[in-house]
Amino acid sequence: MARKVVGITCATFKPTESAGPRQALNRPYVWAIERAGGVPILLPVTAEPEVIARYLGIIDGLLLSGGVDIAPAHYGQEPHPKLGEVDADRDATELPLTRLALAQDVPIFAICRGIQTLNVAMGGTLYQDLPSEYPSEIVHQQSARNIPRDQFSHSIRIHPDSRLCGIVGAQEMETNSFHHQALKNVAEGLRVTAHAPDGVIEAVESPTHRYVVAVQFHPEETAPQDEKSRRLFNSFVAALT
Ligand code: MN
Repeated sequence: MARKVVGITCATFKPTESAGPRQALNRPYVWAIERAGGVPILLPVTAEPEVIARYLGIIDGLLLSGGVDIAPAHYGQEPHPKLGEVDADRDATELPLTRLALAQDVPIFAICRGIQTLNVAMGGTLYQDLPSEYPSEIVHQQSARNIPRDQFSHSIRIHPDSRLCGIVGAQEMETNSFHHQALKNVAEGLRVTAHAPDGVIEAVESPTHRYVVAVQFHPEETAPQDEKSRRLFNSFVAALT
């Protein structure tokens, strides 16, 4: 059987003195999809609704990747003073792309910013800055502690009757953590399936879609050495038809 195609959303970078505007993606996403048996293709940002619609004709599954903050206007809030960088082009691509993918029941695996994109696309809201709005002992931005991307920094508790639990085969797993935002009000239609020890939402899924699994951590960075991380990619690619 031919390998299935996974469209992965990209980040954008403004022009610099030495380079024009660019679109980019961390390579571990590509490696993780390849390793799971899929064909990764990158989906550039676009302002064209027809291009967004056509993406879904080309791909078998959608991977919403990590990145900068979503503009809070998309979930009805004013910017918090600690809001990070935003990317209007990316919001304008990913939010309609996600809604269309959900409407067409295209399988979605969402990572970091991706879980936030999914929640906002479905009507949920975010904490704009965890350290100021949800103080806790856990450092969800592990780069602040100089912990490398492929190292774990906190555990998560996984709900036993969730799809996620079936995928990773455990009710607890270690994760890395590179986020200063998190889900606040969870959109109707999504179910919370994992929390960090401080209560921060670390995973959601949709029980009414073929495959919609979203995590706040970065399993693509730990997949080479961690079986549970690999299982997330394997199950996603296996769900593609
Ligand atoms: Mn975290």
